[in-house]
Amino acid sequence: DSEVVFVGRSNVGKSTLMREFTGHTFSTGANPGVTRKPNHYDWAPEDFVLTDLPGFGFMEGVPEERREAIKTDVVRYVETNAEHILVGVLVIDGKSVIDIIDRHTERGEIPHDVELFHFLRDVDIPPVVAVNKMDKVDDRDDRLDALCERLGLYPPWQQWRETIAPISAKRGTIQPLEEAIGHHLHEAKRDDL
Ligand code: GDP
Repeated sequence: DSEVVFVGRSNVGKSTLMREFTGHTFSTGANPGVTRKPNHYDWAPEDFVLTDLPGFGFMEGVPEERREAIKTDVVRYVETNAEHILVGVLVIDGKSVIDIIDRHTERGEIPHDVELFHFLRDVDIPPVVAVNKMDKVDDRDDRLDALCERLGLYPPWQQWRETIAPISAKRGTIQPLEEAIGHHLHEAKRDDL
């Protein structure tokens, strides 16, 4: 079956977003670091499976070793199933992502979000960055341009609407993401012909 996978650091609003997409109730915020298995959901509008992969990165009270193991599992899942995965949705928190990326870069580390973005491309899965919590962002265009720069995409962000999707899962404004995903699904279908 063809899949659309959702990946992201913990607390970016991935559960909230999955609920918007599927109508299922997801345990938001409960026991981060405990769920280790991918969850699959049929997506009625198209003949696809949505796969929710565990959140990774910093989680209060979860030891470093376990966090690393979760991320390794996520990467391995994507690698193993890359052939069926038509889109990789990287969910990020638009309010904090730039600060987090810059902090890790200053320390000489590769930020998780940047790493995952390039990883998806390396395994030939088109990445769509769901820039969530945009309801909390005032300087919208500047923030999205800064994000493009961090990801190696030439600004302005409006040139990358198939890749950069500003949304607010909590408010239910996820249309830019639906459009970006739809774009790649149709490209994939066309390639099949
Ligand atoms: P997850 O760990 O990525 O699954 O994140 P959750 O879905 O549990 O959300 C983490 C927190 O972010 C919760 O308090 C949500 O209510 C909040 N949240 C999720 N989406 C949004 C959003 O679009 N805007 C704002 N302001 N908060 C959000």
